[in-house]
Order: sequence, then C-alpha cells, then structure tokens
Amino acid sequence: MSIFEKYGVSTIINVTGSSTRVGGSIMRPEVVAAMAEASTESVNMVELQAAASIVIANLTGAESGYVTSGAAAGLTLGASAIMAGFDLLTMDRLPDSDGIRNEFIISREHRNGYDHALRASGAVLAEVGMNEQLAGAGVRRTESWEYEAAITENTAGIFYSVTSSNRPPLEEILTIAHSYKCPVLVDAAAQLPPASNLRHFIDLGADLVVFSGGKALKGPQSAGIICGKRDLIASVALQNLDMDEYFEFWDPPDNLIPKSSLKGLPRHGIGRGFKVSKETIIGLLEALDLFSAENNVKESLEQQEYLEYLADNLSDLPINTQIVMGEQESYPMLHINLDPEISNRCSHKINIELKRGDPRVFVNEELLDENTLVIHPINLNKPLTESLAQRLRDVFK
Ligand SMILES: *Cc1c(COP(=O)(O)O)cnc(C)c1O
Repeated sequence: MSIFEKYGVSTIINVTGSSTRVGGSIMRPEVVAAMAEASTESVNMVELQAAASIVIANLTGAESGYVTSGAAAGLTLGASAIMAGFDLLTMDRLPDSDGIRNEFIISREHRNGYDHALRASGAVLAEVGMNEQLAGAGVRRTESWEYEAAITENTAGIFYSVTSSNRPPLEEILTIAHSYKCPVLVDAAAQLPPASNLRHFIDLGADLVVFSGGKALKGPQSAGIICGKRDLIASVALQNLDMDEYFEFWDPPDNLIPKSSLKGLPRHGIGRGFKVSKETIIGLLEALDLFSAENNVKESLEQQEYLEYLADNLSDLPINTQIVMGEQESYPMLHINLDPEISNRCSHKINIELKRGDPRVFVNEELLDENTLVIHPINLNKPLTESLAQRLRDVFK
C-alpha cells in the first residue's frame, strides 16, 4: 500500500513535468537515502550551509552559494540581500523598504507569477519595455537602452528571468548594469538541463542566480540554490538562518559569513520562514552530485524509450503522436494531437477525464488549446509507462 493511502490520498501519474502542484520531480533513491541518514544526527546549521556553499561554488563557478527552500525563496532572499547588504537595521525592517534603494528594473516581458517572490522582500518593480509582440501591436522587444534609461538613485538592482527566447540578451543587460555598479539577480529556476547552465549565467557575470532543486535536479522538492557574489550570499545567509545567537559566541565559517564585516547580529530576518532543514541541504547536495551532462544524456535515452512505448501502444487509435526531441540534454516529449471531431470531445474534456479516472493522469497542459496533450517523461518508469499507456488507450478508444 502506498504511504499516501494511509492518509486517504490517491497517487497520480504525473506527466506534467516537475510542476510543484503535482509534487515536482521524483527524487533518486540515493538522494532519499542521504536524507534519511542526515536525519539521525545533529549539526550546526551555519556550518552545514558553509559546506554547501563550497560545493555550490565549485559546481557553479560562483564565489559562494547557499541552499534555499526553492528558487522562489531564493528570489525573495536575493532581493533582500541586494537591498540590505550588511546593514543590520535594514535586515530587521524588510519588507518595509521605505526610504531605501528598493527598485528592481524588470522588463514587462519578464513579469510572471514568480515575481511575487521578489516583491515579498519589499522590492518595488520598475517596469520597462512593452509586450508588443504578444499584444499583436508591434515587432520590437524590450531594448537595452530602456533598462539604462530607467536606472536612478532608487535602483537597487535589475531582475532578469531567463528563457531561451527572452530579450534583450543577458550579456547586454550585465554590461549596462555593471557600468552603473548595479547588481543583476537572475531567475534560472527551470534552466536545467543542460548541466552547463549551472555555470553559464555566473560565467556571463550575473551577481546572483537562482535554480530550483526540485525540478530537473531531482533534489528535495522544497529546495533550491542561490549562488553568486560572496557578500550578497552572506547577506542571504544572515536573513535566512536562525539568529538567536550571542554575537560574541557565534562562530560562522568565514567562507559563508565574514563576521568581521558585521557590527552585531540582526534578529530573525525576512527569510526565517523559508528555513531549510539539514535533510534538505544534504539531499540537494547529493542531487547536485548526481546531476551531470552524462547522466542527463543517459536518462533522456531511457525517457525516449518510454515515449516510444507509449506511441507504439497508441498507434492504432485515431490520434497523431509525435516524439519531439529536446535540445542539448533536455527531455524528449510526446505530443498527442487529437481531432475533436473524431474523438467526439475537445482536448479539455479529455484532459478532465484523464484527471478524474483511475489511475488519475495529469498531463502537461501547455498546448491544450491546440488540441495537443504533452507527455513529459521526467517522472516515468516502466510500470508507470505501462499503466499510462492503458489509461490513454481507454480514453481515446
Ligand atoms: C519553477 C520556477 C520558479 C520557482 O521555483 P521553486 O523552486 O518551485 O520555488 C521560479 N521561477 C521560474 C521561472 C520557475 O519556472
């Protein structure tokens, strides 16, 4: 019996990908074992984060790193670090950011639901550019000069959300930002794989970069990383760690927090509610250790086999299937295209049937309006694939 059944919850087949609402990606057994082992002993959390910092720095090429409770928490903490630095009073005040440099420049095209996490720090968004292509009102994307023109004495930093199609290129924004000594916070939450992206944005010169730990990294779902400049990461740590310590007895490892830069200890900071357990930190480090271009390529071949099995098993049904290969090391996807006339139901109806049947199936809904169900294979294994093939046959026949 599934442990979930003990509490009356039925499990689902998650082929959306690593979406948080359906539990993210499934951790590797090695990660789970490491977490169980970590749960049996105690450590000083600042020392554990300092050790994690070294691992993250080595893998990303950044000066320092930190384990957060997800990429979204990393955005709140990163913005808080940029606003507060080592200023204890500001750390104690946030999210009240009145009277301090609190503006983050953001392109209107980069605005998304996760920028709430940025605003939760007290950051105020200063929007630039237009969304003309999507609005069907023009051809131009946001341009670099618009960022430069928006920099004022209230500017704390620039926020950049990475996708393969986002403009202007991050390189251009970094050049402008750094000529004004303005830090750039990069949301790369979902930009893995390829594994090389762990280093890429830091190599370009980004000041802070966040990644999700519970997506392709297959670490704990409530984990993430922030990496970047040493002093900013130290400020992240100060605003996240439990601060109920006597300054004189407090002995943080210097690689994470340079105690000599501080006049005292702030109280619990804005990030205290985003605490990260020792098990989560160990799980994330173990997941990072197993995340490599080599493993990604190997796994994408396995995933392709699962998708081929599905496509073969659906080939006699009145639908079109197509395996769309991922670029670099990223996942192949199965597109199931249906004709509402022939299937007698639109894609939305079929999607609801899949969600409510037994076992329940949650597909990726990105192309639903184009009558296409997308099957993301990150969480598939052999038994799940067989059970999924059967469900899809039942619904389409
Ligand atoms: C998933 C995602 C996040 C949030 O990441 P969590 O690790 O779930 O907190 C932030 N930004 C983008 C672009 C994402 O795709």
